[in-house]
Amino acid sequence: MEDLEMQWDQFSLTEEENSVIEIGSVDLSEVTKKGELCVVCKLWSDRRVGKDIVRATMAKIWRVDRSFTFQEVSTNLFVITFVCKEDKNRVLEGRPWLFGNCLLVLKPLDGFIHPMKMNFDSECFWIQMHNLPFVCMKSEIGKKIGESIGRVQEVDVREGGSEWGGVLRVKVELNLKKAVARGRTMDVLGKKHLISLKYEKLPRLCFDCGMIVHGGKGCSNSNGNGSGKQYGT
Ligand SMILES: [Zn+2]
Repeated sequence: MEDLEMQWDQFSLTEEENSVIEIGSVDLSEVTKKGELCVVCKLWSDRRVGKDIVRATMAKIWRVDRSFTFQEVSTNLFVITFVCKEDKNRVLEGRPWLFGNCLLVLKPLDGFIHPMKMNFDSECFWIQMHNLPFVCMKSEIGKKIGESIGRVQEVDVREGGSEWGGVLRVKVELNLKKAVARGRTMDVLGKKHLISLKYEKLPRLCFDCGMIVHGGKGCSNSNGNGSGKQYGT
């Protein structure tokens, strides 16, 4: 489809091809109803994976009604139709999801965009902030640090968050084409603190540049820049 659009850009269109067909009004009720049960799903993997394998694997992980369907739109791009809204919402709420060690990005269905035109370059992750001084175990501080990483969705201060040695958990929407943040430096009343970040359910990422998804040009640091594999093994 992308090829077709690139070609389209190079064509000089005839008058008929270029004349606009006005779609005055559309019936939204059908797409709204379908959208309540559907999500669009992109599997970030270098190899093509068949929909039946992805479906069977995720059915076990998600524990959803077995009659949900997977429709392959393009390579590793699927529209999933759940049997009920509750299943759909629970799966969306539980993001991120991994298929093996590859990331599955899920987005709500948008009736106004073809799935191939949708953007799958971001996903939500729970990030644990370690080594935070006790005075910083607060929702507003988690939000502030989280905002330096991506778009903050939620801060969880419950799980041991108010205790010494506890961790602050923040749900952040990450740009997958940016190196994964390993930590942050904080200054509290003139004293520096290095905060290390740990990701719950982190997929495979590039050990050279730290990105989960490479852009069109591939790895920007494939020669390692002499600094070794900065993102571990
Ligand atoms: Zn890379």
